[in-house]
Amino acid sequence: MSAVAEEQKIVTGGSFLIEESTPKDVFTPEDFTEEHHMIADTTRQFIDAEVRPRIPELEKHDWNLARELVRKGAELGLIGANVPEEYGGLGLDQTSSAIIAEMIGRTASFATTFGAQGGIGLLPILYFGTEEAKKKYLPKISSGEMIAAYALTEAGSGSDALAAKATARLSADGTHYILNGEKMWITNGGFADVFVVFAKVDGDKFSGFIVERQEGLTNGAEEHKMGIKGSSTTALVLSDVKTPVENLLGEVGKGAKIAFNILNIGRFKLGAMCNGGMKLALHDSVRYANERHQFGKPISSFGAIKAKLAEMAIKTWVGEAMVYRTIGMIETATRDTSDPQAKLRAIEEYAAECSIVKVALSEYCNFVVDEMVQIYGGYGYSADYPAEKAYRDARINRIFEGTSEINRMLVPGMLMKRAMSGKLALLPAAQKLMDEVLSPSMLSLDEDEGVLANEMRLAQNAKKVALMVLGTAAQKYMMELSDQQEILMGAADIITDAYAMESAILRAQKLHATKGEQAATRYLDIVQVFSNDAVERIEANAKNTLAAMSEGDELRTQLAALRRFTKNTPMNTVAARQRIADVMIKSNKYTY
Ligand SMILES: Cc1cc2nc3c(=O)[nH]c(=O)nc-3n(C[C@H](O)[C@H](O)[C@H](O)COP(=O)(O)OP(=O)(O)OC[C@H]3O[C@@H](n4cnc5c(N)ncnc54)[C@H](O)[C@@H]3O)c2cc1C
Repeated sequence: MSAVAEEQKIVTGGSFLIEESTPKDVFTPEDFTEEHHMIADTTRQFIDAEVRPRIPELEKHDWNLARELVRKGAELGLIGANVPEEYGGLGLDQTSSAIIAEMIGRTASFATTFGAQGGIGLLPILYFGTEEAKKKYLPKISSGEMIAAYALTEAGSGSDALAAKATARLSADGTHYILNGEKMWITNGGFADVFVVFAKVDGDKFSGFIVERQEGLTNGAEEHKMGIKGSSTTALVLSDVKTPVENLLGEVGKGAKIAFNILNIGRFKLGAMCNGGMKLALHDSVRYANERHQFGKPISSFGAIKAKLAEMAIKTWVGEAMVYRTIGMIETATRDTSDPQAKLRAIEEYAAECSIVKVALSEYCNFVVDEMVQIYGGYGYSADYPAEKAYRDARINRIFEGTSEINRMLVPGMLMKRAMSGKLALLPAAQKLMDEVLSPSMLSLDEDEGVLANEMRLAQNAKKVALMVLGTAAQKYMMELSDQQEILMGAADIITDAYAMESAILRAQKLHATKGEQAATRYLDIVQVFSNDAVERIEANAKNTLAAMSEGDELRTQLAALRRFTKNTPMNTVAARQRIADVMIKSNKYTY
């Protein structure tokens, strides 16, 4: 357990939207312990020295090598970081596993293999396996002796995972289940030894099982993918495949709980992995921009290129703040228990934050690699340079572990669910705000003083905008809100921008308070530019969603409130971006 988590108060899931936080309440990368730094260094060295040079072999589908690399990573404790020691793991904190995920994200193909091995393939067994199954499989998966995979998706059921057609039936003597069906897009499918498979018992009770490779379980050919070509992805055919009853995960008919809870963790880790990929892409871009000369100068001296490098750094640093703030919340909420079920319940509370991190980081990452290609110019389009692979590899992140659309809709969906069950006082907060909006004189927009006080005011107001949109939507559509996808997507983007702004501001304020003004100065530019731009996006999103829901006097009143909430004097973002880029250009690396 990290010392930092012990000091932090528990911030309940979704409460960031209705409560103010202070720098003390957030965990940041600057709070890493020495042990965290050691884990980061060990993982980075392993990835850079042993895995990245061998990607060409993995891309030729050398799965023996993939096995060997998984085993080497396992020897360093990277697979079983979160697994309790009694099952062969290291029993480290959640932050350590996020750090490992970030470093492994420096190589997307291996990160995918690793994510199936140590994440979605292992965690269902840890959280839902019988004691017998945990003892049998966890040590072997943690050590890399067995390769794991997760088989949920089918050709006809992707986002709609519960529509799966695979079946399971109990044998006549009650000792085992017999599974039949076809799965699709299974990571590690070509060489995994053990699979977490979802199938319907008696054709309707969606359930999870641990299934070992055996006769009757065959994988299809490797899919011809756009990217992450060094990871195995195949279909899986199950034909009268047997698994003992002890290999049922949780209870019959409770598979949805397993599938979705495990995806929460997967989503969060995917965000961390994206962050690692972004840092590497930016680092390479800075170096290339310094080396490449046109018109007698390095291209890094051109304002157009500086603006790109700066925006890449902004998204990377803000994304990082979101990742570690979220893991800090989860860490703090799980610090007092070693019971896997209690841990899982605590993690489930943060489903909205996990989806926010997944959507934001995967999209920031796609932005970063797209700009990387542009900075490399024609060489960005060549497979002989790193940008082309980074660009292709990153695209999948917006699709797997729940598409960006599904995760966007989950953000307001999960917050409303918590509100309806009384776990989050979102609706009273929205009602109070709506009353204030109707009598504008009650609106208090305090002018605070201090570091980033203006930005913090903008972030608090951004949360009010989110509440106004959510409150209006809840009132107008009530139980039919889940059908209003455009409104939900708009609300999700406002909430995500608000969470991003606040996370970055709190991180910079904490840095200022702990490391002093000089150390914090260059981060202030990042936070100010991000907040300035986020407010514009929030305003546009809110206008669109409000105008779709309200009209006449009601809309006019809401737009008047929106103008007050998003009031901001534009800053000189051009100069700020130049300063951000210049720091990196001068040191010839990503320095933030
Ligand atoms: C390389 C790779 C590796 C993968 N690894 C695994 C793995 O290891 N295990 C596993 O089980 N699966 C895996 N998957 C599957 C992946 O999780 C699915 O592809 C993903 O969930 C999307 O499902 P789909 O492809 O069927 O798309 P669809 O669900 O058909 O979606 C198509 C489009 O429609 C949108 N859409 C769908 N439903 C809705 C809705 N209700 N409202 C609005 N829009 C909607 C989606 O957002 C998307 O834009 C992998 C996929 C790939 C490509």
